[in-house]
Formats: sequence, C-alpha cells, structure tokens
Amino acid sequence: MNRSDGCPIYLDHLASTPLDPRVRAAMLAWLDAGAAGNPHSAHGAGWRAAGAVERARDQVAALIGARPGEIVLTSGATEANNLALIGASRPGDLVIASAVEHPSVLACLPALERQGRRTRTVAVDRDGRIGLDALAEALREPGPGRTIVSVMAANHEVGTLQPLAEAVALCRAHDALVHTDATQALGTQPLDVRTLGLDLLSLSGHKLHGPQGIGALWVRDGVRLEPLLAGGGQERGRRPGTVPVALAVGLGEACRLARERRDEDATRLRPLRDRLWHGLRTVWPGAVRNGAGDGLPHALNVTLPAIDTEDLLLDLKELCASTGSACASGTAGPSPVLLAMGRSAAEAHASLRFGLGRFTTADEVERAIGLLSAALDARRPLEARAG
Ligand code: PMP
Repeated sequence: MNRSDGCPIYLDHLASTPLDPRVRAAMLAWLDAGAAGNPHSAHGAGWRAAGAVERARDQVAALIGARPGEIVLTSGATEANNLALIGASRPGDLVIASAVEHPSVLACLPALERQGRRTRTVAVDRDGRIGLDALAEALREPGPGRTIVSVMAANHEVGTLQPLAEAVALCRAHDALVHTDATQALGTQPLDVRTLGLDLLSLSGHKLHGPQGIGALWVRDGVRLEPLLAGGGQERGRRPGTVPVALAVGLGEACRLARERRDEDATRLRPLRDRLWHGLRTVWPGAVRNGAGDGLPHALNVTLPAIDTEDLLLDLKELCASTGSACASGTAGPSPVLLAMGRSAAEAHASLRFGLGRFTTADEVERAIGLLSAALDARRPLEARAG
C-alpha cells in the first residue's frame, strides 16, 4: 500500500510521512462532528473542543512517558526547537548543540548570540555521533549563566542515533539542561523522558504518520520557559494562540499509533532497508553508506561516487527520495550534516537519502532497486553497461 498521491514509490519518509488512515479517520470524525468550538471558550462547544485537545495531549504525553500538563502544542518541531532553546535560555547562558542538528536548532544559535547568549557547536565523528569528550570540554566553559545542551535523538539525514544517555549524564554532572529533538526517532524508538533524565523534547506530527502543521514541546515541570510570541495565555502561558483541534486530534492518534506500532514497524522496516542497501550496492559496487549501521531502521543514506544524484533523481520520476534534507534544500549547497561528518562537498553532492515508512512494501523496495539499477546503468561508461 502506498498512500502518497502522484508518486508511485514513496521512499522519502524522513522528509514527511503520509497520514495513517486511522489518523485521518480520527481527524475526520472530529471535523464531521461539527468542530465548532474554540477549546478556550467557556461553553459546551468549547468544552467539547477542549476535551478533544486534552485527550490528544494525554496521547502525546503517553508516547514519551510525560505528564500531560508538560506538553506544549506547537506548529511543529521547528517551533518546538525554537521555543526550547530561545524560551528556556536567558542572556548570559551558554547554549551548546551538536553540529548535525536540524536547521531549526542550528539557525537558532546566531539568533541566540544576538540576544546575549553564548553558543557552541560540538563536532561529530564520521558516523555523525557527537563527540562526548568534546561535549564535556564545551560543558566545562565557565560562565555567568546556566548551560542548555541540544542533542538530537536521531539524525534526519543519516539516521544515526546519538548516545543520548551518555550525553545526559555529562550534562547532569555539569548541572546543564538537556533538550533533545526526537522528531525522527519517535516512530521507531522507545524514548522515556524520565528514564533518560531529559528536560525538554521536541516532536512533530508529520514524521509519525500524523498531520503536518502540528508538533509539541515537552517541558519538564520546573523548567522555566518564556513564550516566543505575545498573545493569550493558552498552553499554560507557554504558547499563545488557539490550538488547532483537528490537528491536535491527528497528532494524538499518531502518537497513540506510534506507541502501539513502533516495535513492529522497526522490526519490519530494518530488513527492507537492508535489502535496499544490498540491492544498491550490488548495482553500484562503489556505493558507500553514510551514518552508523545501527541507526534508525528505516533510514538509508548513501554516496554514489561520481554520480550527480540531483540529476539521477530527476530521471527517477517513479521514485521519491532525496539528495538531502528537504529543510536544507532551499539552500542548494551540499548537506551540512555530511560535511560535519567529514565528507567532501563532492561526496555530499553524490549522496542520496531514503526513508521507508509504515506502508512501504517489499515489492516497492524491489521496484526501487530496479529503477535505480536502470538509471545508474545509463550512467556507466558504454563498455560497462549491462546487456
Ligand atoms: N527536527 C528534525 C530532526 C526534523 O527532521 C524536522 C523536519 N525535517 C524538524 C525538526 C522540523 O519539523 P517540522 O517540519 O515539524 O517543523
């Protein structure tokens, strides 16, 4: 089953995931039931809407082992990341992030500098894992304020899982707050905020087969957070604006399903991802895999030396994959994640990212390998072409 209209084989689930039909049904049930109330209104329709939002909040909280009151609904993970870093830091504080964070974290750093915070990035190894020694070094920097560290749970381009528990232990030893961007991890990885000892966590609906335009920031009770926007007192004063009820219902159902399905999805997707990798390597023996092999089970990032992968994808109209993160694609340069992992600009330009999802089938993976094989064959020197 493939649910992405207009694209026969959708292998770009790290960019966005299609709605799970159960999420769609939950949202439609809410919309069809009238959907009139503002969840902040003190009358019957408002209370009904508020009930739907609170049920969704419970479902989001349950996915990560949080208390519902700690969940702040946002427009997505971009806003959640901004709210975490800008809202929880003060002038004089130090904000540290790994060099492979999503642009919605990294682009906060210059803004934070302009607002009187100090910022540092911590280098990663060739697999994209944060250097714990380098993190410890950055944490030792003396300063007037507190320190906030942002380390993502899993990378959006190469799928590498960060050593989060070790990073949290270091941060705790230095009395630093820890934020994790769990956007890519939650579909397949169990993450419990209290077991991990986190302070802030970001997530997004559309990476979990939920709707685009909604996400959440979990803020541990006791962490002070200033809202980014001026407005009403919604979300316990942490995020003004009317909560979009249908989107919240969708996010809640997506989180409920992620909790129920993540182990099964991970177990089913890993061999499909491995099959894609082995198929590709057979077709193009020079292919090199980027990222740690034990990373996200649905992610595959490869460099095909000397291949212009942008051009390759243009030929592959039947296949949706990407040459890097969709969020960085407006910038046209080589992937900052691959550069941070020590790849050259040429290697980064010759890379492809695949993301499998809940509805990806073995047949689609075989067809994708066939399409890649044909497109790559056309790029071989004449004497080396098959047939
Ligand atoms: N963080 C990560 C790791 C992501 O992959 C993304 C989406 N590409 C975001 C944050 C931003 O999420 P959203 O689209 O919900 O703003």
